[in-house]
Amino acid sequence: MPIWNPRIETMPRVDLEQLQLERLQVTANRAWEGVPFYRRRFEALGLMPEQIRSLDDLRQLPFTTKDDLRSGYPYDMFAVPLREVVRIHAPWGTTTTPTVAGYTRNDLQHWRELAARVLSAGGLTKDDVIQISFTYGLLTDAFGLHQGAEEIGASVIPVTAGAVEQQISIMQDFRTTALVGTPSYALQIAEALAEKGVPRTSLHLRWGMLGGEPWSQATRARIEAQLGISATDNYRISEIMGPGVSGECEEHKDGLHINEDHFLCEIVDPESGEVLAPGQTGELVITTLTKEALPVLRYRTRDLTSLNPEPCACGRTLARMARVSGRTDDMVIVGGVKISPAQIEAVLSGIEGLEPHCQVLVDRAGAVDRVEVQVEVSSGLLTGDMRHLLKTQNQLREKLEKTLGLAAEVKLVEARTLDRRRPRRILDRRKSNSGHPAQQ
Ligand code: ZN
Repeated sequence: MPIWNPRIETMPRVDLEQLQLERLQVTANRAWEGVPFYRRRFEALGLMPEQIRSLDDLRQLPFTTKDDLRSGYPYDMFAVPLREVVRIHAPWGTTTTPTVAGYTRNDLQHWRELAARVLSAGGLTKDDVIQISFTYGLLTDAFGLHQGAEEIGASVIPVTAGAVEQQISIMQDFRTTALVGTPSYALQIAEALAEKGVPRTSLHLRWGMLGGEPWSQATRARIEAQLGISATDNYRISEIMGPGVSGECEEHKDGLHINEDHFLCEIVDPESGEVLAPGQTGELVITTLTKEALPVLRYRTRDLTSLNPEPCACGRTLARMARVSGRTDDMVIVGGVKISPAQIEAVLSGIEGLEPHCQVLVDRAGAVDRVEVQVEVSSGLLTGDMRHLLKTQNQLREKLEKTLGLAAEVKLVEARTLDRRRPRRILDRRKSNSGHPAQQ
């Protein structure tokens, strides 16, 4: 697929790092001058922006957490007066204070360009008809990819999320070739197509850019097979900027190319905050390099991934991040063993008859922690031969014990009974049951 901005995306690393350093210095200054929160953090550390002289000095800068952003609600984290802000997004929760992301005219221009790069790497061209199935509104996904697709020149249909039947009708009538949405929504569409017996030949769909939630290779394989498309992953962090942070190239699908001229990425140990080497998995930390309205230093994303600085065979020299394998707050420790939904899903993918949907319940009975893994099975398995069902159950129990070192109860449930909006999750009920803190 064509490289949207070859000058930047194939830039020698030495030049890229020089550009990053210059922009980091500007960003540190902007944060120090424009945001009282950062001024206080710098002062507490005895640090001045001019002490940032190399990219390694990044480590001297303070971390920013989601709670920090929330405490600035609504406008305290902005580094420019409101009259310079031309767009405001805020993922609206029902129980917590939202984080508010502002964009200046330049920020929006950059966002368009970055979304175009990610879409172009994924495989979108101006000949495509692209259906945006993300919810519009205060969230960033729909708007980000919408404006990137327009920049490329594709025909954009802003369907938004909603009734699956409507998606399918539009897909057929408008001859949609590209789908944008969450992986779980793509699966819902695939399931609805199968249920209604809609022939694949009535669709022109060839590609999907999916994201907004972690999804495994097994889920990707399933979506690609059921929808008959090629699906690529991309990453965004709404608190900072919508889609455009990184995305896979369609040719290799081997890590997400990070737009490093706008985002400086580190991987840290989620517990100690220590910076980890390339290849090691830890928490992604992002520093914005060009954001004017909302410069953010060392943002703790809580997303687990690793970095690969090696150039890709597609020609891009930008470092790649591995597909996000989970969230630091999804990880629990049971009997000294760290478990994440991604690890469990990897085990599921090797066993025939299991769907890539599970829920993990962690309970405490007396001093003993008990883990139950609930897994959806393919239709037919539950109503079929009982011996076959028990064999699958035992197989999963043994594989979990062998792979994770974890003795877990296994419960097989009917397909589509677990919550698809959060298809993979761990429910830690130890705190509410025992009153003791049970995880780090
Ligand atoms: Zn590539």
